[in-house]
Amino acid sequence: MQVKTFKRGTHPPEFKELAADKKIEEIPLPENVFISLSQHIGAPCKPIVKPGDEVKTGQLIAEGEGFVTSQVHASLSGKVKKIDKYPSPIGTKPTMIQIESDGNDEPLQEWTEEDWHKLSIEEMKNRIAKAGIVGMGGAAFPTNVKLSPPEKKPIDTFIINGCECEPFLTADHRMMLENSDKLLEGTRIIMKILGAKRTIIGIEENKLDAIELLNKKTASESNISVQPVKTKYPQGAEKNLIDALLKRKVPAGGLPMDVGVVVNNVGTAIAVPQAVKTKKPLIERVVTVTGQGIKEPKNLRVRIGTPFKNLIEYCGGLTPDTKKIINGGPMMGIAQYTIDVPVIKGTSGVLALTEDITQKAKEFTCIRCGSCVETCPMGLVPTRLVRLIEFDKLNMAEEMGTMSCIECGSCAYVCPSNIPLVQRIKVGKQLINEKNN
Ligand code: SF4
Ligand code: SF4
Repeated sequence: MQVKTFKRGTHPPEFKELAADKKIEEIPLPENVFISLSQHIGAPCKPIVKPGDEVKTGQLIAEGEGFVTSQVHASLSGKVKKIDKYPSPIGTKPTMIQIESDGNDEPLQEWTEEDWHKLSIEEMKNRIAKAGIVGMGGAAFPTNVKLSPPEKKPIDTFIINGCECEPFLTADHRMMLENSDKLLEGTRIIMKILGAKRTIIGIEENKLDAIELLNKKTASESNISVQPVKTKYPQGAEKNLIDALLKRKVPAGGLPMDVGVVVNNVGTAIAVPQAVKTKKPLIERVVTVTGQGIKEPKNLRVRIGTPFKNLIEYCGGLTPDTKKIINGGPMMGIAQYTIDVPVIKGTSGVLALTEDITQKAKEFTCIRCGSCVETCPMGLVPTRLVRLIEFDKLNMAEEMGTMSCIECGSCAYVCPSNIPLVQRIKVGKQLINEKNN
């Protein structure tokens, strides 16, 4: 089958072999979970429980106001110990609800299954909203909002993003292999909600076993197809994937729905049938714990709010030469200063890098080699953007497309002068936002 891709991009070492063959394991319940009230894009939630309250697994503990928000639920049963600000893996210090486990994992109710074919579209969207499902690829955009495009923007194509293009991460790969029936059921539900005529499952060609399995399972469904895409970074960025699969360009500042498309990642689509059929909320996710600094890399199913340190301990701990812990992958992930941060709905990986990989190289001046320009998947000129930002020429930096940067980090990765281009462009985006608001 023809392998599709987008223009430019880069190919960092994959390091997928560390965890790609490791079946998903469920880790023991932690003694405490720390559940962030800001683990989605949109307004933070407000707690509806107080210290001392007993809660059951799956109980609603915080609610958001407005359309773009998401509900938060207890991921285990126990007692609310404290509501306070704690460090989060995205570098902020939001309010979290600490629940001390009673060890029983007592569910709020029996999660009995209903036939989703009998439900109305509004009811299905309502259940997805109430279950607190957000994009689990990292963006954490509320899924019910994504599945509610305005009438004037009809969706003809639904895309499952099975690229997992960040090096090291293998959680989506394992879920495609181990939870393929749930993935396809979620796909059918979402297609019905969107009224989409077809689904394309885009998978990087380094996951041949997943391509073959899903091809086999969809052989009799003419409206669902599997499309191999080139193993290239950032193939999984929504705009690049849409370009690769459909040759449609999402306009600058626009959304996939502007070109008739909705994209969901694998974990998100897998979470949908549970919410729609049983009303069970999102209280767990699959996380890859990997890197040369982890003694036994694994893919783990963990409760939301479990501290990173529990995941690391379950994987045998850190090697003595571990230098850096990252939430997510090495290209777009966020470095951590403590492992006392909890898993949130957008945590795809916990990565431990050793000294030899993280050695900070000295920064040199730009030699105008053009590598960053040749690599940028958005067709930007990163070296020029950075100069404009440094000289406070924010209007010109904006005109040259700074806000279209998807912060993929490819430019910084290829720069022979070790200039932290993406970090400087991120600062520039913040300054432009401040200027315009
Ligand atoms: S400028 Fe932005 S989009 Fe382009 S390579 Fe750098 S980080 Fe990626
Ligand atoms: S890759 Fe680095 S050295 Fe080359 S043009 Fe871009 S900023 Fe300059």
